[in-house]
Formats: sequence, C-alpha cells, structure tokens
Amino acid sequence: MRKLALLMLIVVLALSSCSLLKPEKVDQDVYRAIADLVDAKAEFVSIGNMEEYLKILNPEDKELQIEQSNWMADVKQYPVDDYSLELLGIEQIDENSYKARLRQSYKRASEEYNLEYYNAYKLIHGNFYDAGNYFEELQKENITIKYTTKNKKLAEDIIDDMNELYDENIKRWGITPKRPVVIKMFEDIEELRQSIKLSMWQCAGWYEYGESIKLLINPSANSPDKIGRVVSHEMTHLFTVEKSAGNLAYWLSEGLASYYETPDNRQGPGQLYKNMRVKLLTIDEIEAIELEKLEDKQKISEYYTNAHLITAFMIEKYGEDSIIKLLEELSNYPSKVGTTSENDGYYREYLHKVLPEVLDIQDYEVFKEEWKRWEPSLALFGWLRLCSGEYAASLLEVYCEV
Ligand SMILES: [Zn+2]
Repeated sequence: MRKLALLMLIVVLALSSCSLLKPEKVDQDVYRAIADLVDAKAEFVSIGNMEEYLKILNPEDKELQIEQSNWMADVKQYPVDDYSLELLGIEQIDENSYKARLRQSYKRASEEYNLEYYNAYKLIHGNFYDAGNYFEELQKENITIKYTTKNKKLAEDIIDDMNELYDENIKRWGITPKRPVVIKMFEDIEELRQSIKLSMWQCAGWYEYGESIKLLINPSANSPDKIGRVVSHEMTHLFTVEKSAGNLAYWLSEGLASYYETPDNRQGPGQLYKNMRVKLLTIDEIEAIELEKLEDKQKISEYYTNAHLITAFMIEKYGEDSIIKLLEELSNYPSKVGTTSENDGYYREYLHKVLPEVLDIQDYEVFKEEWKRWEPSLALFGWLRLCSGEYAASLLEVYCEV
C-alpha cells in the first residue's frame, strides 16, 4: 500500500508540474512556438535588437508595430538590467488566437520590477506572432475598444459616447484620422506603464503619434464621466498631433489636450488661473522641461497647468482659428520618426518659426514677452492665495474686476 501511495504521489506531482508548464488544450507544437517567441523577445530586448524584435510582432497590426518600436527605442535609450520574460501558462482563445500569462522582470536604478500579465499570440499563414498585451475587442462605427473581461460592461456602456467625442473632434479640427481609433483599456496601472515605456512614471492615459489611445480603467473607481474626460484629453492629442503631421511641441500638445478636455477647461487664462494654485512658468522655462523625466508630482502638475494657461492665453488673444492655422502650417515641416519626447527639440524649432507668421507678430520673442507681461498682473493673486489665504485673494479679484 505504501508503495502504491508513493507511486500515486509521483504521478500526481508529475501531472501537476505538466499542467503548470504545458496546459492541456494547447498542443506541444503550439506551446513550443509561443515559448520560442517569449524567449526571442527577452533576448532581443536584452541586446536591444529592434529590427529582429519587430519581425516577431503581428505584421497585420501597424499600430502595435509603432507602439513597440517606440517601446524598444526607450529601452535602447534608457537600458534596464536583467530583463527576463517567463512563460507561466497558455490558453487557446479561438482557432488562431492564444493568450499567455507572462512574468516580465527587470531592474532599473537598483530597483526590481516584476509584472504578471496576459500577452496575445496569433497564428497567421502558419506562423505564430506576438500580438501585444491581451484584450477582448468591441467595435462600433469609428471606435474600437480593447478591454479586459472585467471592463466588458463599461466598454459597452461608453462606446456611443466615444463615437460622439470622435465626431466632435472631427468638427473641431476638420480632419478624419487616417486609421480607426483604437482605445485600449488597461485595468492595472503598472501594466499600462510598462506597456508604454519602462522609463516612464505611472499615468492614467497615453497617446503617441500612430499608437492607440491607452487608458487606466478601474470599473469600481472610474465613472463614465471620468473616462470621458481622459479619452477627451487623449483624443485631442490624436487629432492635433495628426493635423500637425506629428510636428507638435510637447508643451503645446499638452496645453491643447488640457484645454479641450472638458467645457470647464475652455476658459480664458484669467479665470483658469483663479481656479488653480500654481507657480507660473515662462515659455523658456516650460520649454526647458523634459516632462517624462519629472518625478515630483507638484512639478508635473505645474507643467500641465502652465501649458493649459499659455494655450488659453493664446486662444483668448488670437482666437481658436489661429490654433487650426498653426497646426496646418506645422504639418508642412518634415515629419520625424520616433516619439514626441525624442524629437521635441525639432518640434519646438518648428513652432518658433511658424507661430510668429500665424499670429502676425515679429518673432517668437514677442510671444514670450506677451506671456511674461500677462504674468506679473496675476502673480500677486498667487502670492496672496499662498500667503494670506483665499479671502485676501478674493478681495483683490473684486478690486481688479471693478
Ligand atoms: Zn496629455
């Protein structure tokens, strides 16, 4: 009996280790093909081989190709240590689709990162390809939402609003995007961050030229209103970046996305400033900041608020049409390969040339001075708010409005 028990224990252990490594329902050839892709990605990332990495990605998904080439460019620019991918299990979705549980690990600045997530794999013309983070899909009119199972109901609830936002943006910017709009709804903030750039800080939304819109969606914490706000911000990026052929300076891109995020955000700079406690930056100061390298939340918020205020200032003084004209003129400049943060130096140069022509002012220095001159009259508000509280500031507002 003891021998039989021992034998049974061995069989059970063998079976359980088998099912852990090679889940049933997935035959061995499929398992091997996907395991090879996982190993290949880990190797190409470790040695920074962009060309070979792009070859293992779904060739039919151009958006994924752009996303991953931006992702790899970031890894090459800011290398990580001990990058590894571990295959934890595979599940078949349909005839040609699989999802695999992966553990991605790496070290940066002596900190260790470990993330478990699902990645998709597709069989196309007899070959397997990496299809990026795994999502289910819902498509209606001009919007495709990619979501995780938990967010299925939310995706169904918001897709009409997303189509409305899309139509509003077409009217506002006078263009139709070249590709259908894809919104990826992540439910894990760290998975979202690691899918954008390993060097980045955590954010709730992301858009880069040619990529999908990416959002953090927690069904218990995000109302459709909040989601609409983030999508509105990212969709403004999509349309304005596309209208300028990708040649839009980082601060102005964020300024426009913040300004058009909600109707409340579309106010003159004076009114906006009254609602925000912020240290004002000059245009030279905001242009010297590399947003993605900031870690201090206060500084990040200062950047967005100032970009928003300067954009509101430009719209109040020169009109919304000047923004449309500006984006059109920017699109005549040569497009660059890579992300906004990589090319922002060029984009700022383009802006410095185009803005004075469009606003009919002598040069970019004049615009910088106009913003500076606007600043001192309001700096006192900020000082009073911070030093003497709301009451003194409100008194001064009454005085000034009279
Ligand atoms: Zn933004």
